[in-house]
Amino acid sequence: MKSVLNLFILFVFLCSFSLFGQNKSKEKETKNSTYTNAKPYETVKVKPVKSVIVRNVILMIGDGMGLVQVSAAWVANRGKLNIDNCTYTGFSRTWCSDKLITDSGAAGTAMATGFKTNYHCISVNTLGNPLNSLTDLASIGGLKTGIVVTCNLPDATPSVFCANNKDRNKEEQIAADYLNCKVDYIFGAGRERFNKRTDKRDLLSELKKKGYQVCTTWEETNKIKQGKVFSVLKEGQLPFAAERGDLFSKACMHGIEILNQNKKGFFAMLEGSRIDDCGHSNDLPRLMEEIFDFDITVGKVLKWAEKDGQTLVVVLADHETGGLTLLDGNLKNGSVTCNFSTKGHSGILVPVYAYGPGAENFTGIFENTEIFHKIVKLLNLKK
Ligand SMILES: [Zn+2]
Repeated sequence: MKSVLNLFILFVFLCSFSLFGQNKSKEKETKNSTYTNAKPYETVKVKPVKSVIVRNVILMIGDGMGLVQVSAAWVANRGKLNIDNCTYTGFSRTWCSDKLITDSGAAGTAMATGFKTNYHCISVNTLGNPLNSLTDLASIGGLKTGIVVTCNLPDATPSVFCANNKDRNKEEQIAADYLNCKVDYIFGAGRERFNKRTDKRDLLSELKKKGYQVCTTWEETNKIKQGKVFSVLKEGQLPFAAERGDLFSKACMHGIEILNQNKKGFFAMLEGSRIDDCGHSNDLPRLMEEIFDFDITVGKVLKWAEKDGQTLVVVLADHETGGLTLLDGNLKNGSVTCNFSTKGHSGILVPVYAYGPGAENFTGIFENTEIFHKIVKLLNLKK
């Protein structure tokens, strides 16, 4: 009997050992990934600008785009990125009022309003009181304003420029705030929050009454040459880069051309929103494709800014997503091996790149709230 029991214990021990071994290898399998970029793209070269006048500011946010994401994309694109044209670089600290590891709501609020706030807040302070954002102040100062994103419009980053709410998950309330925001050019997705609502309001027709040209396709959007634009192409998010094609960069450049008709200048926020989603899902190939799409757009924006001469371009992230490590790679064939350490955000500081007049203000290590204060000062806005 005792020997049967001993045998049973041995059996259980062996089983748990082999299960443990399997789990360990499975864990390894899900966290380390390799990606090879078969089609590297050409990057642009831009010259530093001579003017010191800042007429326009274009803030480009790679959501969840940490230094490792940029480094991996640089290897995968055979050692070149458009972002490398930026003449000044710095680091931004991302912590929020009640957590070390922030989210896009609190991080976006810091950059858009100059205030650190609580996790999941949308342009309200820690007491829940609404705050003015860069788009509000720019609009009051006579500038035109725009936002272009690849996510749904009531998502955190676009919302901090257009809404105020204690809870980023209140997407229907946030969508309703778009009616009172002063942004002239709005492009993104999440149409159902505007016209399939539990309160039965049709915000798209309400936006039309407010003077917006409301579009639901790119063709319609592209035909518009002036005036206020509200373009909401899809329900949910826009698809990932492989399916989306060059829609993001087309929308960014279209928005810039319309906003630039204003004599006093403009402020625009352009977000590569889905970089963050790929960090959350630990999907390295899609993550690289999202960064390429963002960087290709950076190249187009920098070329435009070079020609304009009075436009400051700031490229940064709100936080890092995925806890990414670059373990190996090959600059010749564009392969990278990376490891994700989390399905959430991490607390590391994030890179800031700047080009154009005033770019020299974006060096050193600073809090994310400083992004707001630097832009306010350079555009001569009243707080
Ligand atoms: Zn995220």
